[in-house]
Amino acid sequence: MGAVNINSSKNPRSPVSRTRPFPQFHRISIYYLAFLLLPLLILLLSLTKENIRSPPPPSFSHPLFSYLQTPELEIMRFHVLSLLGVGGALINVAYSAAIALAPRQTNSPEPIAPTTIPDFVDLLSLDSTTATEVAAKLNDSAAALNLTGAPPSKAKLRKRTADLATELACWIIQLKFAGDACQDGSTSYTTLSTLNWSKTCWLQPKCIVSPSSASQVSVAMIIVSYLNVKYSVRSGGHTPNPGYANSNGGVLIDMSKFQSMSLSTDGTVASIGPGLKWVDVYNYFNQRGTTVLGGRIPDVGVGGLLLGGGLSFFANKYGLACDNVKNFEMVTPDGRILNANAGQNSDLFWALKGGSGNFGIVTRFDMYARNDLAQIWYEVRVYDASQTPAILDAVENFQKNGEVADTKASFVFSATTDVTLVGYIYGGTASSLPSAFSAFSSIPFLGNFALPTVGTHYQLVASLASAFSPIPARHDYRAVSTGVNATMYKTVYAFWKTQALAINAATGGSANMSFSIQSFSKSAVDYGYSNGGNALGLVSQAQQWFTMLIDWDNAADDTAVRAAGKAVTDKWSEVSNALGFGNPYIYTNDASRDQNPLATYPAANIAQMRTVSHKYDPRQIAQNLQSDGYLLSKVP
Ligand SMILES: Cc1cc2nc3c(=O)[nH]c(=O)nc-3n(C[C@H](O)[C@H](O)[C@H](O)COP(=O)(O)OP(=O)(O)OC[C@H]3O[C@@H](n4cnc5c(N)ncnc54)[C@H](O)[C@@H]3O)c2cc1C
Repeated sequence: MGAVNINSSKNPRSPVSRTRPFPQFHRISIYYLAFLLLPLLILLLSLTKENIRSPPPPSFSHPLFSYLQTPELEIMRFHVLSLLGVGGALINVAYSAAIALAPRQTNSPEPIAPTTIPDFVDLLSLDSTTATEVAAKLNDSAAALNLTGAPPSKAKLRKRTADLATELACWIIQLKFAGDACQDGSTSYTTLSTLNWSKTCWLQPKCIVSPSSASQVSVAMIIVSYLNVKYSVRSGGHTPNPGYANSNGGVLIDMSKFQSMSLSTDGTVASIGPGLKWVDVYNYFNQRGTTVLGGRIPDVGVGGLLLGGGLSFFANKYGLACDNVKNFEMVTPDGRILNANAGQNSDLFWALKGGSGNFGIVTRFDMYARNDLAQIWYEVRVYDASQTPAILDAVENFQKNGEVADTKASFVFSATTDVTLVGYIYGGTASSLPSAFSAFSSIPFLGNFALPTVGTHYQLVASLASAFSPIPARHDYRAVSTGVNATMYKTVYAFWKTQALAINAATGGSANMSFSIQSFSKSAVDYGYSNGGNALGLVSQAQQWFTMLIDWDNAADDTAVRAAGKAVTDKWSEVSNALGFGNPYIYTNDASRDQNPLATYPAANIAQMRTVSHKYDPRQIAQNLQSDGYLLSKVP
């Protein structure tokens, strides 16, 4: 068949046409401007000579009429009209100002819930032959699929029905998206189904669709939600949790074509697509003399990292990367295209900052550009593993003193069983190791992974590429948080090392575990609150978010390797609680599939996220149809 017009803006029922020409606030302003002009017009009229001219000769001579037309009353009429004009104008100015200054909450557009097959087909903007073909096939299966538009429920997705629905959804997707969709058997399917960073996520989706605009994502979600089929969303594909960013038997919505980037003309807002890798983002903005807060490793994706929170090199000064988002463009699970920011859909804006993929598919992030981080100082030192206890003492010292004294300073710490890497990063220029890092300065090191450099965010991140093997492997990560205490760090480090050596031996040298302390300072927490807050609900105190990466080769070792990782996070909980440094919080972006990070958010935040979820996803499509993820429906 011929090329299919995916841009449905010509269709009056299409999701694109449902977005209004002006944002709500502008429409209100225009309305009040009109009403501001009306009294001014009255005022002007009252001032014209016409209005104060002598009254015309009376056409009849009733005494009251003669009285009403005396020059005194004419002047009074002029004053009354003037007062009315000025008063009306002032009231309207005050009302317009109140509207402009009040916290604004735009109502989301109407939910899209086609109840009939023609309604659904209409939303797809297919050419008439294809539309007839799709409608006929859906009519054939209507009874079997219960195409009533009723909310989906997991119970309804019985295997046979689900298979038929997914087959139909993929057939329609293929018709609609042509070369931007694929199914098993094609070369693009083989490439795209194995794009995920971890082999644990190389699954077998029924079909893969790669939209490249918000309206295309909208169409994909309308198909998925109408037919009640399982789906998953993948941006960078760096989660190692199976089913989170790929799917067995469902529809994979691959966001890798969302690669656009731009800087606003005044240089303050950086717009980035979710399908980008961080190294490409930094490269682009580096060429424009600025940067944004984001991931520290080159290949990690934009979408998942920003929705889970986002640890960067500059958290101490600017909080989480999600706290640096000014606006999210999002497609709701039923296909509406919305913007969420401090003025529009502000409840959704808050929830998207740390709420993961619970509310819809984000198609663009507008972030604050950080020009002050265009030039930074950094150095990465390599230490022998025997120095690690001394480094952990210095870490505690830095968390209590260095990062408090200077919010430009931060470090990264990652230990293997042989060596420990510490990166010292300073969000400004320096001639040598800044004094904030003095606790580390006397610890002997083997050499430099990166020499002391005044450079750019892009250079630093690009230089870290060589620390990661390009050969695909199986991976997992796990997260646990604690307070700040070197004795605890050293106790768990010793335990971790025995586990890491043992699992490496048990897997014939295949499994390697790392040990990373990630500091999250009080000022990082407070920045989030001062910037409108986020869904995480962190306690305002210095803390560390431990994470570990585990890499291995054979699926047969999955259980043993993951058990070794779990033993380490369990140890953190045991030791931190025993020493009084326990912190129940689990960082979403580093949490393994058996962990439930959202369950560690404050109960009030979860309740608010549920309210937001029901408001923007009344059919609860994201909860019931998404293959897996850090979902609200999994929070007890
Ligand atoms: C080597 C390595 C280094 C890392 N470094 C950092 C770091 O420096 N800082 C940090 O905070 N984290 C880091 N992480 C963790 C990382 O943030 C998460 O793995 C994150 O999920 C990766 O983002 P992604 O776009 O690649 O996600 P994906 O794997 O594509 O998706 C992860 C989850 O987010 C959902 N999702 C993705 N895109 C969207 C979207 N557009 N709309 C709605 N939902 C979406 C997916 O459905 C999925 O559930 C690192 C991970 C690894 C493996």
